[in-house]
Amino acid sequence: MQTRLADWIRGTAQGEEADAILRRCVHCGFCLATCPTYNLLGDELDSPRGRIYLIKQALEGAPVTRRTQVHLDRCLTCRACETTCPSGVEYGKLVDIGRALVEEKVARSPGDRLRRWFLARTLPSRALFGAALAAGRAVRAVLPAALARKIPARRDAGAWPAARHARRMIALAGCVQPSMAPSINAAAARVLDRAGISLAEIAQAGCCGAVAFHLNYQHDGLDRARANIDAWWPHVESGAEAIVVTASGCGTMVKDYGHLLRGDAAYAAKAARISELAKDVSEVVAAERERLAPQLGTPARSRSIAFHSPCSLQHGLRINGVVEEILRDAGFELTPVPDGHLCCGSAGTYSLLEPEISRRLLHNKVRALESGGPELIATANIGCLAQLQSGAALPVVHWIELLDERLQRV
Ligand code: SF4
Ligand code: SF4
Repeated sequence: MQTRLADWIRGTAQGEEADAILRRCVHCGFCLATCPTYNLLGDELDSPRGRIYLIKQALEGAPVTRRTQVHLDRCLTCRACETTCPSGVEYGKLVDIGRALVEEKVARSPGDRLRRWFLARTLPSRALFGAALAAGRAVRAVLPAALARKIPARRDAGAWPAARHARRMIALAGCVQPSMAPSINAAAARVLDRAGISLAEIAQAGCCGAVAFHLNYQHDGLDRARANIDAWWPHVESGAEAIVVTASGCGTMVKDYGHLLRGDAAYAAKAARISELAKDVSEVVAAERERLAPQLGTPARSRSIAFHSPCSLQHGLRINGVVEEILRDAGFELTPVPDGHLCCGSAGTYSLLEPEISRRLLHNKVRALESGGPELIATANIGCLAQLQSGAALPVVHWIELLDERLQRV
């Protein structure tokens, strides 16, 4: 694609990055077939190619309107288009640049601004979100059913094993996950303990920064990244082998710290190192398979699971088939899931900001997951877990909880 960037952006770091991405796009349109919003809405401007064109126009100095913003808002940032694109167009990076640019030029309504500000402040704060969730649980009985289903029941985390191994790794605690499902990181700690690795959460680290960053509070998101790097760095220097992330959405963000902070002289090198060390928990478990396999025994009965691979796992981190193989090795039967590449509609804060599209995606996803008659649904990201739980009749868990449960039974 030929570009002619406007003077005010040409030569800037953002302009050069966007230009390089735009030039790779050859308009072929292959990406349209796997875009969930194009599939639902049928409007070219709600497709990757259409959004790329809107961003190109904005970068070339064409007037930016509320309509441009609406089409960019409707994008789930699921990155299915990146997986499909034969030219390697890094759409996710481009849409971040485009959104920041449009945000500067198009004023949102006061209600929209307030909603986004509230989400960017509340969700990343463990204390605020924990208090809001506790209040929601207290009044769940009088809430509308659709809202009540979004509030997960309290789950017991179980014991966190004592640090006893020479091999050590750090777990990202995150922001909403400790309140919604503390059982997930605790399960990861128990599984890794059996593999001879001690896992520890670092109290000073918190939200990965993705919530604020993708709501266009990009500076806040980067500050959270810097705070995590500061909290983890002494442990990295003293030999922690990896930063283990059990929410694939957060893992995508942490793996991107190096790129996002590449222009920050004080943090660039550390951020690059942290990104190298960041691992989805499936990568760590897969590497320890030989050590864990003898501890699994043979299950009395094979349970059938539908696995929902989050967009952040399959398109963001490009980890495909790894969790499924771990679950099969552990004796679970995996049921077929049609259209597994499509988003469940969670997408960070998307389900709250674009509820109608999100609801339609959720409906389709639950139907696909339940079509093979599983007993349970498993996933790999807390946002997807909460979203699926709000629409599925079956229980929804993180896959590491299933592996932990299997290991506990032996
Ligand atoms: S598939 Fe890639 S090259 Fe083709 S239109 Fe989409 S983004 Fe552009
Ligand atoms: S990120 Fe997802 S929703 Fe957005 S354009 Fe790409 S495929 Fe479509």
